[in-house]
Amino acid sequence: MVGVSRWVAEASRLTVLTGAGISTDSGIPDFRGPQGVWTKNPAAQRMSTLDRYVSDRTVREEAWRNRRTHVAWTAEPNAGHRALVALERAGKLRALVTQNIDELHQRAGSSPDVVIEVHGTMWQAECLACADRQPMRDVLDRVDAGEADPGCRSCGGLLKSATVSFGQSLRPQTWQAALDAAWDCDMFLAVGSSLQVHPVAGLCDAAVAAGARLVIVNAEPTPYDGRADAVLREPISSVLPALVDQALS
Ligand code: NAD
Repeated sequence: MVGVSRWVAEASRLTVLTGAGISTDSGIPDFRGPQGVWTKNPAAQRMSTLDRYVSDRTVREEAWRNRRTHVAWTAEPNAGHRALVALERAGKLRALVTQNIDELHQRAGSSPDVVIEVHGTMWQAECLACADRQPMRDVLDRVDAGEADPGCRSCGGLLKSATVSFGQSLRPQTWQAALDAAWDCDMFLAVGSSLQVHPVAGLCDAAVAAGARLVIVNAEPTPYDGRADAVLREPISSVLPALVDQALS
């Protein structure tokens, strides 16, 4: 940990990749950790798979019911999110690439300019036909009022959260920004991700190929541990603030 905080102190262009693990201490379960949504209920994956969502109305209705009561609507950022705000304010953060869809980085104070949401946001709904976007809250009000599977009011198409499901492409501009941030950093910190979702996990390869140090902070092993300069297998909301405090002191 002391060695890693020295590297953070030395770094001037740090790119951080976050995953669901940074938000578990805010009460939002991850997918693949021991208490993960899919670990406990593998069938829940179908709601994150585009062709199932499009072809099966019952899957969509279940997805809307789950969205209504999602814990993310009332979750608060934790010390892990805030540590990354401190890193940005110290002028060290090149980019904060997040796979998370909960917007807790922005709520903690990270500037929208540095946050790259590669998997989109659950705070917006998007039409799968015409790409019209609107606040998720407005659509959930319709669900509350009795529409089990609300459609797009512009074109009648299917609505979904503005997130990237399996089978859906990443937005090219967003992905390019994430790749640029991986290529153009002197340290790449992967936090709270099982690093099993591609192409995002491949950002670790890009950063290492560009000569950056790779540090992984995650409770469980990842496929990239062998390539990392250091692996910290400790709770994120305590180890990340400690790391940043030491580096900035
Ligand atoms: P994942 O569920 O595959 O992996 C999370 C990892 O974090 C696990 O390996 C787990 O051991 C670790 N972890 C959990 N809590 C931790 C803690 N407090 N300290 C240390 N380690 C901890 O998540 P992923 O790699 O981000 O991929 C899943 C996909 O699911 C992402 O694409 C993301 O869009 C989506 N997702 C997002 C949220 C969110 O926005 N909060 C929540 C669930 C899933």
